[in-house]
Amino acid sequence: MNKKIIIGSVPIIIFLVLLAISLRPAKLTIVVDAGHGGEDPGTISPTGIYEKDINLAIAKKIAASLAQNHYKVIMLRQDDSTLSLEERYTTANAQQADFFISVHANAIENSSEVEGIQVLYYPDSEQANEQLAQQMLKQLTTTTKAADKGVIARPDLAVLRGTTMKSLLIETGFMTNEQELARLLQNTYQQKIADAVTKTVNYYIKNQILTSKK
Ligand SMILES: [Zn+2]
Repeated sequence: MNKKIIIGSVPIIIFLVLLAISLRPAKLTIVVDAGHGGEDPGTISPTGIYEKDINLAIAKKIAASLAQNHYKVIMLRQDDSTLSLEERYTTANAQQADFFISVHANAIENSSEVEGIQVLYYPDSEQANEQLAQQMLKQLTTTTKAADKGVIARPDLAVLRGTTMKSLLIETGFMTNEQELARLLQNTYQQKIADAVTKTVNYYIKNQILTSKK
């Protein structure tokens, strides 16, 4: 190739590089919300374990797993700090996040045999959020082998109601069930939950579910 052709190709190469950059899919921003924290312990198990600590451990694994999959991840709390519900959804809205995942653990009085995962969603007229919740729950129960406690419409929950992006709240298991509580405290089990969340987010992306707003 002579010098003239090389120099003549420079604008074309620059154009192609810029085109490739502009066509690259935008990084999705995902907010991971570890439920409760600081002054608010959430549920306290009969053995004295705080829900806020389980939520944070699992949320950290979810955040790491999503970051490894090249999502931009925002953790609302990374330590034992107190955050109001309003602070949680206003931060997510201000960051113009694409998806909001709240992590919690469940409890039920006088029913120590009840166990399993639930996914809570904000009901919309097209049942889009219900489908979103179903897909998340299916992946979670498949990966962890936990019992399926169904998806639940929660129009009253502040973090689901206040967020402007798609959102879900995962009840990862019942702290009132001794065996499930033991599993929730295991690193390997927490990692399974994180893997299931990331798999589902990847599925949402593939099917362009997160590209539309709530
Ligand atoms: Zn909770």
